[in-house]
Parts: sequence; C-alpha cells; structure tokens
Amino acid sequence: MPELPEVETIRRDLLAVVLGRTVRDAWISPNAPRLVQLMTPEAFCRGLGGRRIEDVGRRGKYLLIHLEGGLTWIVHLRMTGRLQHTLGGCPDDAHLRAKFELDDGRWLCFIDMRKFGTMWLVDDVELVTGKLGPEPLEETFDVAAFHGSLRRRSAAIKAVLLDQAVLAGVGNIYADESLFRAGIDPRKAAKRISGPAARRLHEAIVEVLLEAVGDRGSSFQDYVDAQGEAGYHQLKVRVFRRTDEPCLVCGTTIRRVKVGGRSTHFCPKCQRR
Ligand SMILES: [Zn+2]
Repeated sequence: MPELPEVETIRRDLLAVVLGRTVRDAWISPNAPRLVQLMTPEAFCRGLGGRRIEDVGRRGKYLLIHLEGGLTWIVHLRMTGRLQHTLGGCPDDAHLRAKFELDDGRWLCFIDMRKFGTMWLVDDVELVTGKLGPEPLEETFDVAAFHGSLRRRSAAIKAVLLDQAVLAGVGNIYADESLFRAGIDPRKAAKRISGPAARRLHEAIVEVLLEAVGDRGSSFQDYVDAQGEAGYHQLKVRVFRRTDEPCLVCGTTIRRVKVGGRSTHFCPKCQRR
C-alpha cells in the first residue's frame, strides 16, 4: 500500500503538470461502485467538471487536489490504486476505474486492481482527514506529544505506529524500518517505550520517511509514481521483506512475525526487547 513517501511523490509529480489546469470531463466506471464516497458518481463528476486545479496537497496517505470554489478532490489509493497522468487519453486497462480529461490534452487515469481506492469531493477536508494524527515531516510532530500518545497505548508499538490517529502516513514498510533504526522490538508494548527510545524512534521515523521521499518511494508490488515509474527505496530497506537474510548491521537472521495481524520484520539482536 502506498504510504507517505509514495503519496508525496505522486503529489509532487501531479503538481508539476496539473496546476492551473481545468478538469474538462470526468468518468467513473460502473464497475467501481465504492470509489466515490458521500455522493453519487454522477454528482461527483458534475462537481469536478469545469473546475480549475489550484493546488495539490497531501495529508497522511490522502492526496488533496484543491479546486477553485473551495472544493477539494480527495484521493486515497488504498492497496493497489494508481493515479497517473497521460497525454491524449487513458490506457486500455481492465482495471481503469476513473478518468479525468484536463484542458491541455492531458488525462488523469485511476487504475485500481483491488478496487479499495476511494475519492471524495468536499468543501471541508476535515470531514475526511479530521481524525488523523500529526504529519511526521512537519513541525507539529512533537517528540513529547508523540511519547505521550505511545504511553496511553498498551498495544505493540508496531501496531500503534500504524494507527493513523497516532501518526499520519506511516504504514507497514516504514514502521518496520523506523523500529529497526531505533533499535526497538516491534512487539514491545507502546506504553513501555522509554523517553530516550521515543526520541530515537521519532528521529528514525523522520529520517526513514525523508530518505524514502528522496528515493521516490518503495515499489515492492503495485506502487508506481504519477508517470507509471517505480521508486527506488525498496533497494535500500534494512529489514522489510528481508526475512531469513542477514541483518546488515550484525549479521543475525532477520525474522518475520505477525504483530496486530500484520507481517513484521525485525532483527532479534539489534531490536532486543
Ligand atoms: Zn542486527
């Protein structure tokens, strides 16, 4: 699933080509009944049509396409969603769920094999993103507040990092990578994380996310950027999906366990409980 670095990469790619453009026409596949939230696909397409794109933002894993008239077109890619720009039309793809024609001959194509992706057209973004925790790459990501939110939770730290109300944008890849860098066992109860460990984890999350943004995200399965190209960060991960391979720091075999129902990769020596 695309996480913060992947959505941020798509945001930057889109911003470079759609800023100031007008949505000429919109089409939602009848085979994507759950794509549009809170309104009918017809109302969604009518609402988008003729509107100029004023900015492209992001909140956690949500892409926020700000339109004239105070409306925001929100996109969440979920598991396998791809939002790509093309010239002269969208590819003939069995998984094409929506397409949007812009006024310069460019198209935005939404391709989604698993069909979990969602879109909204709202005047109040908070309606969709209001419950999200702080943005890890902004000043609002405060160490003391972060430690405070961990101390209130008895679940495993890995599961708590995936909770979007604690922190926006971190998913399975970057939770595992951050815990490795901070030397924390992913199964440890969040409330038992010490002050120094919370500081290390805070720093590790920021570092890992910034590096992944610099690498244009990680492409393990489906993720591609807005041009349809893979990212590079999968080549640099230290534990994620490296089960049974040697730890790059100490040589111990990387283990995989389930934490909160999610596959979790860690080094039993570097991340001692
Ligand atoms: Zn190790």
